[in-house]
Amino acid sequence: MTQQPHLNTAGFATRAIHVGQEPDPQTGAVSFPIYQTSTFAQFEVGSSQPYDYARSGNPTRTALEQVLASLDGGCDALAFASGLAAETAVLHMLSPGDHVVASDDVYGGTHRLLTKIFSNHGITTTFVDVTDIAAVQAAFLPNTKLLWLETPTNPMLRVADISALSAIAKSHNALTVVDNTFASPYLVQPLALGADIASYSTTKYHGGHSDVIGGALVTNNPELAKKLRYIENAVGSVPAPWDLFLIMRGIKTLSLRMQAHCRNAQAIAEYLEKHPAIEHVYYPGLKSHPQHDLATRQMRMYGGMVSFTVKGGVAAAHRLVESTKLFTYAVSLGGVESLIELPRILTHAAGSAHEIPAHLLRISAGIEETEDLIADLAQALKQSSS
Ligand code: PLP
Repeated sequence: MTQQPHLNTAGFATRAIHVGQEPDPQTGAVSFPIYQTSTFAQFEVGSSQPYDYARSGNPTRTALEQVLASLDGGCDALAFASGLAAETAVLHMLSPGDHVVASDDVYGGTHRLLTKIFSNHGITTTFVDVTDIAAVQAAFLPNTKLLWLETPTNPMLRVADISALSAIAKSHNALTVVDNTFASPYLVQPLALGADIASYSTTKYHGGHSDVIGGALVTNNPELAKKLRYIENAVGSVPAPWDLFLIMRGIKTLSLRMQAHCRNAQAIAEYLEKHPAIEHVYYPGLKSHPQHDLATRQMRMYGGMVSFTVKGGVAAAHRLVESTKLFTYAVSLGGVESLIELPRILTHAAGSAHEIPAHLLRISAGIEETEDLIADLAQALKQSSS
C-alpha cells in the first residue's frame, strides 16, 4: 500500500523510519506534521477528498497506518485509541451466538473484555492452553468464528505455534487474531505465519517510552480491513493526533530498542536462573523453557519480558518489588525503563483463565546498561531473601 516503491524491498529499520513519512512537500519538514484539526474544508460540493472529519481519518493517522502495515507485511493497518479499543473492534465483527477460542493466558484486560463485556452480547469463549494443539483443536465448535492467540503469553511467557494453530482455525473457517504486543513485529510476523489479524497495544514497544496509549490492527485481507475501518468509524475509538505522532516517533527506533530489550532480558533470565533465591524462571530464550525450540523457529530474538517466582513465597515477592531501585514497580511494559510487577495484584487483577502463582513476578526489561540492571536485582534479592 505504500506509494514509495523504493521501500518495498527495504529492511525493517529502513521502513520503520521512511514508510508513509516522506518530507512534507510544502515545507520540507522531515518530521511528519501533527494534523490537529477536527474537520477538513471541502473545496467543491460532491468532491471526493481523502479527509472530511477526523474521526474517519487524518493524514497523521494515515502515515502511522502505512508504517504499521509495512512493518507487519500487511496490506492495511488501523490505529486505535488503545490496545483494548483495537481488540473491541475485532470482537464487534462477531454476532450473538458466535464462539471464540482464546488462549487461557491472555492479558487480564482481554480476558475481562471477553468474559464481562462481550459475554453480555451473546458471545461465548472457551479458554484453552494454546501450547496443547490437540486441546485447541478440541475446543472448536460449529459456531467458532475466532481463534485469539497471544504469544508469548502474558504473564507465563508460553509460546504458541502460530502456523499450526492458524491452520486449525482456517480448517474451521475461523479467523486467527494474534495479540503480538509482547513480541512486536520486529520479533514475530504473525501474518506471514498464517494469522489474519495482528493486534497490538502500541502503548508498549511501538511507542516505547511509556508516554502514550494506543492500539493497532494489521491485516493482509482488504475485506477485513474495510470491515474494521467501518467499525472503528462507527464506534469512534480513534486516537488523537499528538498520540499518533508519539507512536510514529517511537517506531523509528523500534528495531534498536528491541535488540537492547532482548539482550537485557536474556542476561536477566540467565542470571536469575542461577540465583539461589529463585524458584523458577519463565523466558523463551532459556534452554529450560518448554517451547524454546519453537521460539527459536518463530521469533527473531526471545523478547524483553521475563517472569519468575522467588523462594519464600508472596512475602519475599512483595519485598523484592519494594527493594528494586532501577526497576519501577508498575504495570505496563515495552518502555525504555525497566519495570517489575506482580501480575496477580496488578496486570491480571481483572482475572485470568490460567492459574498465576501469587508470588510470580514479571519484568519488562528496559534498555539500561545490563550490568546496572543485574546489580539492582542482586541487591534487591539480597534484601528480599534475608
Ligand atoms: N494486549 C496486551 C498483551 C497487553 O499487555 C495490553 C496492556 O497491557 C493490552 C493488550 C491492552 O492495551 P492498552 O492498555 O493499550 O489498551
